[in-house]
Amino acid sequence: MEKMSGKLFLIVGPSGSGKGTVIKALEKKFKGFVYPISYTTRELRAREKDGESYHFISKEKFKRMIAEDDFLEYAIVHSDNYYGTAKKEIVEALKGGAVVVREVDIQGFHAIRKIIPRENLVSIFMKVPNLNDLKGRILMRGEIAPEELQHRLDSAAKELAQAGDCDYQVHNEWGKIKICVAQVEKIILEEIDGLY
Ligand code: 5GP
Repeated sequence: MEKMSGKLFLIVGPSGSGKGTVIKALEKKFKGFVYPISYTTRELRAREKDGESYHFISKEKFKRMIAEDDFLEYAIVHSDNYYGTAKKEIVEALKGGAVVVREVDIQGFHAIRKIIPRENLVSIFMKVPNLNDLKGRILMRGEIAPEELQHRLDSAAKELAQAGDCDYQVHNEWGKIKICVAQVEKIILEEIDGLY
């Protein structure tokens, strides 16, 4: 891959660990960063809008995009839904020197690590105290089918076991999301010091 001057921050961690909340807080504070929207084949949740949290597309469209090499990475997450980060937006932003922030599952992180040069990539894993706590958070987000909940908890156990593969780990204790946001901000600001 040709030389890039920007930095891609990957926020990794189980479903319900607070990645979305951290990114929303960053979006509010750091308007100059780039926050790419991924593509998914999962159903919209209540209060979600197409083009806000994701581009919601059919499996057929997703497969066409795979064939056209549109993704930097894609993965099947929690049983049978596809999620993918669009290549062009991220690569262009990094070439232009931007700070890019995106959440991905652990598979996405491993795939991106093989493509994006070491000096342009920082990974931050969000840990949670235990799976019971995580279950509570997922249930609080809205209605979820029991099988889907189980898939998410199974994935969480696997993801937590790989937390050490990321550059940084932050702890999201129940009710202390602000501390977690501050930790992520600090990591980003230290990592981009000198870049701006
Ligand atoms: P959710 O359905 O809760 O929005 O996301 C499910 C999981 O998919 C989360 O762990 C989330 O970080 C991950 N995810 C979101 N976007 C992407 C993506 O573009 N690629 C990959 N590999 N995972 C993603």
